[in-house]
Amino acid sequence: EKTTKAKELVKKGCHYESPEKIFKYAILGGGVSAGYAAREFRRQGLKRGELAIVSREAAAPYERPALSKAYLFQKRPSRLPDFHVCVGSGGQRLRREWYRENGISLFLNTEIVRADLASKTLTTANGRTIKYQILIIGTGSTVLKLSDFGVEENVKNIFYLREISDADKLIEAIKTKRKGKAVIVGGGYIGLEVAAAMRINNFDVTMVYPEKWCLPRLFTPKIASFYENYYDKKGVKIVKGTTVIGFNANSSNGEVKEVRLKDGKVLQADIVVAGVGARPLTSLFKGQVEEEKGGIKTDGFFRTSVSDVYAVGDVAAFPLKMCNEMRRLEHVDHARKSAEQAVRDIKASENGELIEEYDYLPYFYSRVFDLSWKFYGENVGDTVIFGDYNPLSKEPKFGTYWIHKGKIKGVFLEGGNAEESEAIAKVARAQPSAGNLEELAKEGLSFALKM
Ligand code: FAD
Ligand code: NDP
Repeated sequence: EKTTKAKELVKKGCHYESPEKIFKYAILGGGVSAGYAAREFRRQGLKRGELAIVSREAAAPYERPALSKAYLFQKRPSRLPDFHVCVGSGGQRLRREWYRENGISLFLNTEIVRADLASKTLTTANGRTIKYQILIIGTGSTVLKLSDFGVEENVKNIFYLREISDADKLIEAIKTKRKGKAVIVGGGYIGLEVAAAMRINNFDVTMVYPEKWCLPRLFTPKIASFYENYYDKKGVKIVKGTTVIGFNANSSNGEVKEVRLKDGKVLQADIVVAGVGARPLTSLFKGQVEEEKGGIKTDGFFRTSVSDVYAVGDVAAFPLKMCNEMRRLEHVDHARKSAEQAVRDIKASENGELIEEYDYLPYFYSRVFDLSWKFYGENVGDTVIFGDYNPLSKEPKFGTYWIHKGKIKGVFLEGGNAEESEAIAKVARAQPSAGNLEELAKEGLSFALKM
């Protein structure tokens, strides 16, 4: 019977292991953090059969950021295996075979529906169990839906973007509705990146968001006005200060035809893509582990309140040492580095050694059209701007310093090269005195390059 079951599972693309097996390490989730954790385990010395990765997705860990960028491109779109981890940080691409070659059990298409941290057992949707000694939780986030905000989604062709399967559905619709009308709901990361991708696909694009300006948690009005004007130049329309309240369907096929807004406007649409936020996936662990900031509380080694259980990436609420505060970050650089930190701690503990506490410098970035920005540090306090903010310039290059209590705490740069990016990261880490603000504005990027 065991052999038949094993054969069936392998046929479905699933991994099979004897149910009695206890893995030394298990990673729940097969996203960015899982891939980087696997590589770190391998670096630190992993024996065959010690590690299991369990993922609901069909693909081995990949660089999720590609989904809202090159994956959606019309010409030469990026496809797997091109963007498996760890290419995003300049490393070797870990294809599915890499896990096999290294004796890592990769359970794909496998959803965990129960995690019992006391008995160290994970239960899959089809009722099998996976036992472990040490668990790393890397379940990431799930999308918030418009229905979570009370908007009825009773029409076809409303899309969200989190996993490769979501992106594939969107690509199918892009092909079917060629040169149609797209309404993008949300002025956050997904909204801005997908609006650009849809425009590149020759859609007539309108963005709708409730705030006064896009990405308000990071952008100042000055930074946002550059991107909003740039989008305007590219033909993207923006409707601000209102929300979506409902949809009208085409009566013949149930597909979206119109988007109704709170301010009374009605927008024509063939496709709607919503990027209205994300929520960390912690429900499997409710009542079993301490939580904070909507995520799982960890220390600077990503240990949770339960021994032998770590949490990394989007779900971890960890001490951000440089700010002396607990934070939860939903960005890829932290997903990679937190995963590596957890594995280093696991291996060091086995050898009776200690490692340094996580001392993370927040780093966010985005790429849209032919633009590319980076931000390091904290966006607190007053701002000093520098550079060319003109969206009509051939190669716009500009930035902002954030100054709090006389020190530079954060730096934003659009259009920088590798050396300049490294320089602003250095400034955000060192937090030098800002000195005379007029001088700083005049010096602009050269202040950072001098450091
Ligand atoms: P994820 O990478 O989301 O992986 C979680 C994995 O766990 C998934 O495979 C999921 O299916 C699996 N899982 C969850 N629950 C279960 C379960 N019960 N059973 C089995 N498997 C489960 N950040 C940036 O800094 N820059 C960017 O440009 C950028 N672009 C992005 C573009 C998109 C479209 C998205 C969605 C995110 C982007 N991010 C970006 C954010 C970044 O990708 C995330 O912060 C990062 O992926 C988090 O890594 P993670 O391992 O915590 O979670
Ligand atoms: P964000 O939280 O960045 O943005 C959501 C946006 O939608 C906000 O502007 C929000 O406004 C707005 N919004 C909320 N409700 C509504 C509504 N009912 N109608 C219209 N707009 C609404 O989330 P995203 O969905 O953009 O991204 C999801 C996840 O993916 C995040 O974890 C993000 O970090 C990650 N990501 C990161 C990228 C990057 O780092 N480059 C790229 C793509 C994704 P308000 O703030 O007022 O609630």
